Amino acid sequence: MHHFDPSTEIQDNLVFGEYGGVNPSITDSSTYTFLNPEKMKELFDHEIEGCFLYSRHWNPTNKYLANALAKLENCDSAIVTASGMSAISSAVLQICNAGDEIVSSRTIYGGTYALFKNFLPRLGINVNFVDTQDLAAIENSINANTKIIYCESVSNPLLEIADLPGISKIANSHNLKLIVDNTFSPISITPHQVGAHIVVHSLTKFINGTSDCMGGCVCGDKEFINELTNINSGASMLLGPALDSFRAASILKNLHTLHIRIKKHSENAMYVATELEELGCKVFYPGLDSHKGKVLMNEIMNEGFGYGGMLAIDAGDSKSADSLMERLQANKVGYLAVSLGYFKTLFSSPCHSTSSEIPKEEQVKMGLSEGLVRMSIGLDNNIEKTFERIKLSLEEVGILVY
Ligand code: PLP
Repeated sequence: MHHFDPSTEIQDNLVFGEYGGVNPSITDSSTYTFLNPEKMKELFDHEIEGCFLYSRHWNPTNKYLANALAKLENCDSAIVTASGMSAISSAVLQICNAGDEIVSSRTIYGGTYALFKNFLPRLGINVNFVDTQDLAAIENSINANTKIIYCESVSNPLLEIADLPGISKIANSHNLKLIVDNTFSPISITPHQVGAHIVVHSLTKFINGTSDCMGGCVCGDKEFINELTNINSGASMLLGPALDSFRAASILKNLHTLHIRIKKHSENAMYVATELEELGCKVFYPGLDSHKGKVLMNEIMNEGFGYGGMLAIDAGDSKSADSLMERLQANKVGYLAVSLGYFKTLFSSPCHSTSSEIPKEEQVKMGLSEGLVRMSIGLDNNIEKTFERIKLSLEEVGILVY
């Protein structure tokens, strides 16, 4: 357990608006004036830090959000992007050239899996998918061309916990970059504290928390973030996934309540997971003693934010999962929708949605059942009442038979 408190780090990072406003001003400009042509030339030649020339490169509002996210992840620096996928693709493409390889966890978000499996090979970048729970398998799949080890701190959708200190040791011994997607566990895990070199997020999920926009970020050391934004060779600058400054401002405001939301998501998910297990359901939740990642999570998590808001139930088969989700929606437990981190509960069947990009035989290998229902537990004030509705839904579809 770590005593690092990301919420205090963010809170202490004081910024003011132009007229002393409690929120920083929004820079509503794509381009910036220069006092004279020499200054413009100087900037384009040397990219002086803290200077703004064009908003695809940097925008002051985006920089406020990026600075806060760097604090969240205890990294030197960060950039924000228009989605989680663009954060991942920018980070990976900054490091890899044609001929390079990546060792990736096989239990990752389906979109990332498809990028790695179908798209990167078109650029001559190959990805070896391994069970990253098995450190020897990681070690064995590294070769002279490997540049990156990639995993999620809490995996999607099976909620496996990555042994970040162990994986980091391997990465360091081979001089590789360890990139960790921390989308499922912001604030409760700080991957950089336990060995990650680069941390990526989909801000679309818990960090924003209102399911109203897309966003992403890459956190790392100053040198890497400067590489990403370099006007001649930077992946984010040249591929251009710029986040709009109005969205950056609204995400920053929401980031300031992340600690409260994560505590409540965790408290509610822990309650639901415990009650479901007591009823005899097959539940995956890292806070349960039955979860094989709990001991590891206890070692790497920050104290006080719980085990997160995500859980999964195995309904047995695809048909039961579908019926269960229909009843959960009808009984007002939440919405049948992909994504996560919303204040309402969201549920979906990974095999037919967010993990559908992963081939069937791979799904079987990683233990992804057709009957799995992934739930992002909401901020319900009366979780006992919500649980009664979940129980009723399970009874209605015959999953609970007394
Ligand atoms: N990483 C994880 C773990 C995700 O669940 C997702 C989206 O579901 C992404 C990355 C991609 O983020 P975005 O949808 O913001 O591009």
